[in-house]
Amino acid sequence: MGRIPQNFIDDLLSRVDLVEVVDARVPLKKAGREFTACCPFHNEKTPSFTVSPAKQFYHCFGCGAHGNAIGFLMAYEHLEFVDAIESLAAGLGVTVPREGPEPRAGAERRSSDNQALYDLLERAGRYFRHQLKNHPERARAVDYLQRRGLSGEIARDFGIGYAPPGWQHLIGAFNGQPAQGRLAEAGLVIEADGKRYDRFRDRIMFPIRDSRGRYIGFGGRVLGDDTPKYLNSPETPVFHKGRELYGFFEARQALRDLHRILVVEGYMDVVALAQFGIRYAVATLGTAVTREHLERLFRTTQEVVFCFDGDRAGRDAAWRGLENALPLMREGYQVRFMFLPEGEDPDSLVRRIGKAAFEDLLEKALPLSQFFIDQLRHEVDLGSLDGRARLVEKVRPLLATVPEGIYRHLLLERLAEFARVAPDQLGWLLDGREPALRRAALYRPTREPRGKRRSAPSAVRHALSHLVLAPELAARAGDPSRFSGLRLPGVRLLADLIDLLQRKPGLSWGAVLEHWRGTDEGRHLARLAAEEPLIEEPELLEDEFLGALQIIEREFLRQRREELEERFRSLSEAEKLELNQVMVRERALRNA
Ligand SMILES: [Zn+2]
Repeated sequence: MGRIPQNFIDDLLSRVDLVEVVDARVPLKKAGREFTACCPFHNEKTPSFTVSPAKQFYHCFGCGAHGNAIGFLMAYEHLEFVDAIESLAAGLGVTVPREGPEPRAGAERRSSDNQALYDLLERAGRYFRHQLKNHPERARAVDYLQRRGLSGEIARDFGIGYAPPGWQHLIGAFNGQPAQGRLAEAGLVIEADGKRYDRFRDRIMFPIRDSRGRYIGFGGRVLGDDTPKYLNSPETPVFHKGRELYGFFEARQALRDLHRILVVEGYMDVVALAQFGIRYAVATLGTAVTREHLERLFRTTQEVVFCFDGDRAGRDAAWRGLENALPLMREGYQVRFMFLPEGEDPDSLVRRIGKAAFEDLLEKALPLSQFFIDQLRHEVDLGSLDGRARLVEKVRPLLATVPEGIYRHLLLERLAEFARVAPDQLGWLLDGREPALRRAALYRPTREPRGKRRSAPSAVRHALSHLVLAPELAARAGDPSRFSGLRLPGVRLLADLIDLLQRKPGLSWGAVLEHWRGTDEGRHLARLAAEEPLIEEPELLEDEFLGALQIIEREFLRQRREELEERFRSLSEAEKLELNQVMVRERALRNA
């Protein structure tokens, strides 16, 4: 079995969300920009375990445990490196490639490709917002939004924009840029019969962001007579409909704690509810609710309320939701079903009755067990033998999917009550599984106590810690080879780090650290990543960073000059030329 390509690991770590990986095993609480919990790796009463969504990195201030998503699975589930990667990959439904003899240009391309697509989609989002403010035909779009009662604040929070009518607007906006060729891959442009044209025309544009806030696609609501009324981006390398939820990122931004999440059908429902102060609604993207959706939701909240039309189709959709929810049900989780009055959608309903009355209806939404039994009541006549057989037939496979535990027990009780038998008489419903043994999390801290004396602040150290805070600074660093030869601890690491970040902008810290797994350099970087920033103003950071690089470069030039001067008599012509260049550069830096 070959090695797993580093590019695949980069790509994997940029697609998984560490917050979700951890939260599925150790429930996290939001605290400012980070998430905390009591540390799973040592005994404690107050949380010192911190997960940073931006850095994709966790750190415990108590015992020093730290790492990325791979490291967390290795430590928490006692997995080997390769198994941790397999587990993360399985969660995304991708297979882990192995390095063979053939070159891995493909993988290299894919990782930087995804970043290029994120950037492209974000720029398209900016373009659509700009059109909503400036395009000559914006009036109808603005009018539509105003009639829906949307404030500028909500439009901004959701990044709403406008795709003008016509076939070549977006393409034209990217004219002459290399990115233009990627518009089709990003799902923004359609290529057919040798022609290329904008996918979204004369539509209100709703950007779809992933849980890390990256632009991954768009939904467009038509203004004219075009069909369909709602159009989504197609599946692309960065957009997977069965996984994403519209409004999830925005809800997590708006509320510290999401006690409850409401699942509705359309973007306009999400946005309208937010306008009325219900900022915890999300929408699926033209698919039914999948189990993956539910898993993501339950990592963030304890209660999920589904909102469905009250008609037959709505009930059927709700039943599919129930089937998907049952395998995830455990104590502390709640799934409920809200059925809307005929002819209403959440948008129209909240507009008509307001927030308080809408939330009253939410309170009255049917608990899953109640909906379950209501449906059975419709379909099963308990008075007849036939009916009882049908009940068993219908309930047994469903119940078999419910995990052992209090929730399953309570559900069984409700069913027994409904069937008017004692709960233990419902034994025939059980499928005889043994309760799954929960693997206890063993105590295995990574020993690296906090509060170690900081090394003397040096330019190298400064430059490194600034890069940790703002990896995008690497783009401004220039070619690191101009100082990488300096013999000073950390310089090689700094140069390699700049080089990596320049080649792969957008790698999270968790993914960056993976390149130094198990090395002293990696531990050093992890310590830096766990530190609190001293300064946060971007301009200051950049000034200090570039200043530090200059100090390092000057030091390198001095070192090199002294080496050359020492054996001046025996220098080759090339070396004499180099010495001259070194001195010219030194003078330039002194005068800078
Ligand atoms: Zn700890």
